[in-house]
Parts: sequence; structure tokens; C-alpha cells
Amino acid sequence: MDNLYRWEGSVKLPQEGKFIKLKQDKSIEVPDFPIIPFIEGDGIGAEIMPAMIHIVNVAVEKAYGGSKGIYWVELLAGDKAEEKTGKRMPEETLDFLKQAIVGIKGPLGTPVGKGGKSLNAILRQSMDFYSAIRPVYWLGQPAPIPDPERVNVAIFRENSDDVYMGIEYMPKAENTQKIRKFLIEEMGISEYALPEDCGITVKPMSEYKTKRHVRKALKWALENNKKVVAVVGKGNIMKATEGAFMNWAFEVAKEPEFKGKVITEGELKEGQVLMVKVITDQMLMQLVLKPEAYDVIVTQNLNGDYISDLASALVGGPGFVPSGNIGDGYALFESTHGTAYDIAGKGIANPLSLTLSGAMMLEYLGWRKASEFIYRAVRTAINDRLGTPDIANGFRKQGIQAKELSTSEFAKAIAERI
Ligand code: NAD
Repeated sequence: MDNLYRWEGSVKLPQEGKFIKLKQDKSIEVPDFPIIPFIEGDGIGAEIMPAMIHIVNVAVEKAYGGSKGIYWVELLAGDKAEEKTGKRMPEETLDFLKQAIVGIKGPLGTPVGKGGKSLNAILRQSMDFYSAIRPVYWLGQPAPIPDPERVNVAIFRENSDDVYMGIEYMPKAENTQKIRKFLIEEMGISEYALPEDCGITVKPMSEYKTKRHVRKALKWALENNKKVVAVVGKGNIMKATEGAFMNWAFEVAKEPEFKGKVITEGELKEGQVLMVKVITDQMLMQLVLKPEAYDVIVTQNLNGDYISDLASALVGGPGFVPSGNIGDGYALFESTHGTAYDIAGKGIANPLSLTLSGAMMLEYLGWRKASEFIYRAVRTAINDRLGTPDIANGFRKQGIQAKELSTSEFAKAIAERI
């Protein structure tokens, strides 16, 4: 079927295909032929997006024999949007994403020194994608640790709280002095803690935002038969924020929805999940020494940033790891690496992060059969020692022969293995 609709002066809406619907309970109703918007992305986006679309199309066709299919609709953002419309994030893009409920994007660059909010931040806040989910697992690629198959952990990073809210007071600024004065004179804080030349960053963390995020992680853990969920934070130091987060997480475990299913002590029975508390620095160490100990990590925004990068590095880097930003039904899947401007246009970018994000999106749609085909085909292609230069070089460094392919050749090789 002709199922790719490029932007042509405006968004092209297919005649066929239907929008996904958001139900009252915030779950989604997926038609057999959903309209899925995609933002190609800057830099290598133009190379990895067609690769992902091809692989997903082949997997869906193989799984459902033509009874299901995706209508892909291009939306503009970033460099391409600026070139064609003069705006880096056109209103049309945000409106369409809201209407379509589920979408996927490539990397978007943040021009240094040009000012303006990060496009990723605009997108994440526009639909209140409050959980960033990064499942980290190994598919056979070269990795820096022995037995990387021990890594199979999904990181749930809170996306709508914490120091990322940008509440910042720069050193010596007038506002900063006002806050200092208030804290010293009215709240009894010492001048030692707040010297005259200090900057102040505010770290808000709320019960409502924490609990909705933790519920998402627990539901996911139960649906996917996971066993150990670690609640991670530096609660011993930041009691009012990360400490509160950890306590709220344990309150969620006691909610009626999770009663008998989520335990916090004792022996695990079939179908149950064990919730444990781990301090951030401990978790960073444990991930390297004993990654098999945890199946799900649920954490705050800043800790989630550190932890997900460390976990990704264990399996070879962000080029191999997918991600999804998920709110109340709304979801936007994306590659985890950046625009890689240094290799853009050369046809050598690794398409796996975006391709696995496409597979994650299929799971979200409930099309698990198609996503399983993709995971299997990627494993087989890597086992056959095929890959873009970064993969082939990784194998060579380990003394293993590998065949170097372009982005599109690698996508074709994966599709052929579906
Ligand atoms: P980057 O990920 O673009 O590049 C880091 C290194 O990794 C480069 O050497 C690059 O060639 C390589 N690399 C990255 N992805 C690759 C792939 N798929 N295949 C092969 N090699 C790959 O990180 P950066 O240079 O720090 O950032 C560049 C731009 O991307 C910045 O403007 C940044 O803001 C943006 N960025 C966007 C996102 C996003 O959209 N989610 C994420 C990170 C960075």
C-alpha cells in the first residue's frame, strides 16, 4: 500500500487510515490502519527514519498479512521546519501530534547560542509526557562488559518534575539576593550554606506527579512479568524531594490496584512484583557489578538521566537503545542519541535506536507479534555479523570479522530477516 505521506506545503492527510482514539480511562483504541505521524529529525534523521519505517512496514505486513497497516504522516520540526516554514516548531506539528495521540521522532538539534527552548522540551511538555521509558537490553552487539545479556532493565524516568523545570537563579543576580535574604533572615538558613556569590536551582517534586509515574512503572512491570522494581533516589540527602518520591512510591504499592500484586518484603509468588529501595550511587555501582538484579528502575528526572546513560553504555551505547515518552495515553517514541551532524549525509548512521523505538511503539499499539519479528530480525542480522560501521568496528576490535553496511543496506538486511 502507498502509506507514506510527506509534508508538501502543509501536512498531507491520507484519505484512508484513522486516528487512534483516547478512551475515557486514558487507554488507547487502535484502528487496524492508524495514522501515525513522524518527525524525521535533524542530522542523520533523514537516513534513519526511512530505515525504521521500512522495517516496521515489513514486520506489520508479515505479522498481519495486510489486515493491519500504518499510514505514516510527516510533520515538520527542527532544521527542516525552519527551512520550509521559518519556525522550528510549527503549531501545525503540535496540533497534529495531539490529534494522532501516538507518534515517533528522530533526533532534534538544539542550536548552541541561538536561544529558544529545546524542541524536545516543547514536545515533552506539550502533551504532558510524564514518564520517559528506556528499556535497555542486549541484542548481540559489541558491548564493553562481559556477559552483556545480564542487562535487561527498563528505566522509568520521571519527566515533569525536578531541576528540569528550569527554576534557576543565577549567582549575584537581584532575584537570587532576594531569595537568599528571605532564606537567611526569615527561614534561619546560615550564610555558610548560602554565600553571597551562590546560584540557586529549585528542585520541585510533587506527590501527584510522582504517583502517576510510579503507577505507570508498576503496571508495566506486572504486564511484562517483571520481578524486581527498584525505586531509586538520594532520599537520605534530599528528604523533601527524592526522599518524598521514594516514600510516595511505596504508598502507591499499597493502593487497591496493586494489593497482593506488588510486595515490599518476603518471598515473591508467581505474578507478583517486589518493590525495593536503592540509593542512587548504590544503583550506579550495582548496574555495573550486578545488572541482572533489577528488572525495572523507577526514578526522578535527573537521576533517570544519569542512570539511563550508564545502562545504555553497558550494552554498547545509546545507538542501540529505544525510548518512549508516555503520558495519559499520549506517546511519542524517539531515538536516544543526538543528531550526529558529524556523520550526517554519509549513509553510515546506525538505525537501531529508532528502529527499536518503532518496535516499542508497535508494542504500545498492542501489535506485539510485529514487534517480536523486529527484535528477532535485529538479533539475527547482528549474529550474522552485519552492521553499520560503528557496529562492524566494534566487532573488529573484539577480533571478530564483520561486514560493514550502509544505513539503508543494514535496514534491508534486517527486513529480509523478518
Ligand atoms: P550525538 O548523539 O549526536 O553524537 C555523539 C557521537 O555519537 C557522534 O560522534 C556521533 O557521530 C555518534 N552517533 C550518534 N548517533 C549515532 C548513530 N545513530 N549512528 C552512528 N553514530 C552515532 O550527540 P551530540 O553531538 O552531543 O549532540 C548533537 C545534537 O543532538 C545537539 O544539538 C543535541 O542537543 C542534540 N540531541 C538531541 C537529542 C534528541 O533529539 N532526543 C538527544 C541528544 C542530543
